[in-house]
Amino acid sequence: MKVAVIKEAAPGERRVALVPEAVAKLRAAGVEVLVESGAGDGAWFADGAYAEAGASIFSGAEAAEADAILMVGRPDEQAISRLRPGQAVLGMLAPLADPALAARLAAAGVTAISLDLIPRTLSRTQTMDALSSQANIAGYKAAVLAAATFGRFFPLLITAAGTARPAKMLVLGAGVAGLQAIGTARRLGAVVTAYDVRPGTKAEVESLGATFLELTAVGPAAGDGGYARALTEDERQAQQDGLTAHIARHDVVITTAQVPGRRPPVLVNADALKSMAAGSVVIDMGASDLGGNVEGSRPGETVITENGITVVGAGSLPSTMPAAASTMYARNISALLLYMVKDGALAIDLSDEIHAGVVVSHDGHVIHPALTAPAEPDSAGGTARVDGAAD
Ligand code: NAD
Repeated sequence: MKVAVIKEAAPGERRVALVPEAVAKLRAAGVEVLVESGAGDGAWFADGAYAEAGASIFSGAEAAEADAILMVGRPDEQAISRLRPGQAVLGMLAPLADPALAARLAAAGVTAISLDLIPRTLSRTQTMDALSSQANIAGYKAAVLAAATFGRFFPLLITAAGTARPAKMLVLGAGVAGLQAIGTARRLGAVVTAYDVRPGTKAEVESLGATFLELTAVGPAAGDGGYARALTEDERQAQQDGLTAHIARHDVVITTAQVPGRRPPVLVNADALKSMAAGSVVIDMGASDLGGNVEGSRPGETVITENGITVVGAGSLPSTMPAAASTMYARNISALLLYMVKDGALAIDLSDEIHAGVVVSHDGHVIHPALTAPAEPDSAGGTARVDGAAD
């Protein structure tokens, strides 16, 4: 079995699918590894370190020799044109957001395997769960970024020059990223409150020393597979009305809310931003081209509103910690790869829950049930795949 790591092409992407330590482990398991020259540069892993770990370094089209291409994100046009029928590509392909990519890979005869579709509630998939590993990094970085952006202290400080009160932080969405943001902000000394539509998060929030915000006007909204369901229009309105008063009382807001296969819900609207005090900071971890959790946030950009609120469009934070993110991702993708390899070759077995969860296209067809089922209308205005489709 031969795998090739290619350079990520997405703008600003600094992660790499394998780090040298993971190359050594795959080599020990009998997998030959090719690494495109410069693939690890953005994360400070030089070609020489990969070569020392047993990889062969290549430039150009040599990845065609490999049985599988390993990547963090999705193949761009050039990478797709280099894929050959029968080859596999493993990455966070996000096929639910772009079903056309799945169709193209199927038409090219490529076996597409998407790490963002791993069934996350099985204990044996924890080592493969790239969404969680990257969300942990993003949550940590969001809290650190908030502290660095805020013009005051996070902790209570009593000094000869006066006393600083601790920052009041509100975290909206208490999944993997939100919980990590809470833990990190608490370690920095902030007083943290958090809110989520899944009632099960209350105990997790409280176990981290934060206060759980209950909005009585919005009922529980746990969906399939441990995820949230999309809210109805009435619930959405009630939620926004309820949140605005709380947002106004906080110095820092971090938003992490996502609903699988749908655009992120808006939790901080223009009125809520207007209600905040000058100097407050909002970190929108949902910011993407699909829209974010904060009205007016722009992915990858920092916007300062007329009333002095700094809104950071922070949808791609894992790439800003490329060494840590790549190291964790490399463990995830290696674990999945080794799980799917039998007798030295990738052996797709759709009767296996994990294989059925991650294989998007195989033998020339799109086969993932979430992509072959008809799309449901998105009440926010677009079309989207069914809730829980990522299970
Ligand atoms: P996510 O990124 O899909 O969403 C982030 C959070 O946003 C979630 O907690 C969700 O409830 C919340 N949210 C969505 N809409 C909201 C709204 N309108 N208002 C407020 N909050 C909203 O979620 P995630 O962090 O990837 O994971 C969510 C859950 O998946 C986990 O907490 C867990 O239950 C499950 N999970 C389980 C395992 C496991 O069992 N090993 C591993 C990973 C995740």
